[in-house]
Amino acid sequence: MNKIKTAVDKLRSCETVSDDELLLMLGAEGEDMEYLTEAARLTREENYGNDIFIRGLIEVSSYCKNDCLYCGIRRSNRAADRYRLTKDEILACADAGYDLGFRTFVLQGGEDAYYTDELLCDTVRTVKERYPDCAVTLSLGERSRESYAALKAAGADRYLLRHETADALHYSSLHPRELTLENRMRCLRDLKSLGFQTGCGFMVGSPGQELSHLIKDIRFIEAFKPHMVGIGPFIPHKDTPFRHEAAGSVSMTLRCLAIVRLILPQVLLPATTALGSIEEGGRERGILAGANVVMPNLSPADVRSKYLLYNNKLATGVESAEGIRSLDEKMRAIGCRIVTARGDHISIQK
Ligand code: SAH
Repeated sequence: MNKIKTAVDKLRSCETVSDDELLLMLGAEGEDMEYLTEAARLTREENYGNDIFIRGLIEVSSYCKNDCLYCGIRRSNRAADRYRLTKDEILACADAGYDLGFRTFVLQGGEDAYYTDELLCDTVRTVKERYPDCAVTLSLGERSRESYAALKAAGADRYLLRHETADALHYSSLHPRELTLENRMRCLRDLKSLGFQTGCGFMVGSPGQELSHLIKDIRFIEAFKPHMVGIGPFIPHKDTPFRHEAAGSVSMTLRCLAIVRLILPQVLLPATTALGSIEEGGRERGILAGANVVMPNLSPADVRSKYLLYNNKLATGVESAEGIRSLDEKMRAIGCRIVTARGDHISIQK
């Protein structure tokens, strides 16, 4: 029996695998890759059936105090066109999203001091009062434990904060000096211990990434047991220091998605916008490799093109909430369907 299939079978039966076996799976091609993604797909079906959860993504601000080398809205990008949404504008996005069937709103943005704890807590509270049947997810970067605690008390349910890479040296090559892996991990631990459904994740093919880093990412996820994991290919942005770097590969992204699904069978795993942006049908391939979440864009149309993390980011068509029906058709074509349930992690579903 071939070693890759043996490793996949081990994960399928909840056994641990060695680093060498992870390496083999990360290199799976052809029939072996099909075997890996098929196993992940079956694992997804056993836990969540063919239901694909949707999250309405509201990109609240393109202002950011950070200077992450990969990111198009980094502070030193003078060419970036900046905007921020007011509380009322965020609420208007949620109103429109609710009517379209969204029951989770994700407020994502750069680290923008405009959003004080007071303003954010007030916004979260208002969304939750207006839509008690909805979940609110935040993705607003690193904050203090006190700030996270206040946001939790205001009613936020989930928090997404990708760890980006679990290797400290690699982390420091992607970020300015003031950002450390240590603090990122502190944030993730705080979020989880405060009771958030917590999401970490990483980019595939970020500059300088080696297979040994991906193994560290997978080991971190295995140990941390997040509720959600965001994985997408790195895509260069023309106004960043990484403008000439190669994009991450779709196949490697799919292998990572499949491995994470097998290691955490109940994880909420999005087929990310980056995966859909880099290749036509990329998101469908993500679903077929074990993903079970998609996050269409609910941001106001006039700001969508300004939240440009990377070049050629999908902003219209199926990425817009108006395209939800066509998204459902695409999901049906691969045997799945969009559902409007809140889509909590199985461990906390009532
Ligand atoms: N400020 C928030 C939100 C960041 S944007 C935070 O720090 O969590 C969400 C994710 O987009 C990031 O975590 C990063 O992994 C991804 N991203 C940023 N630039 C990217 C690029 N050039 N290619 C692919 N993904 C990118």
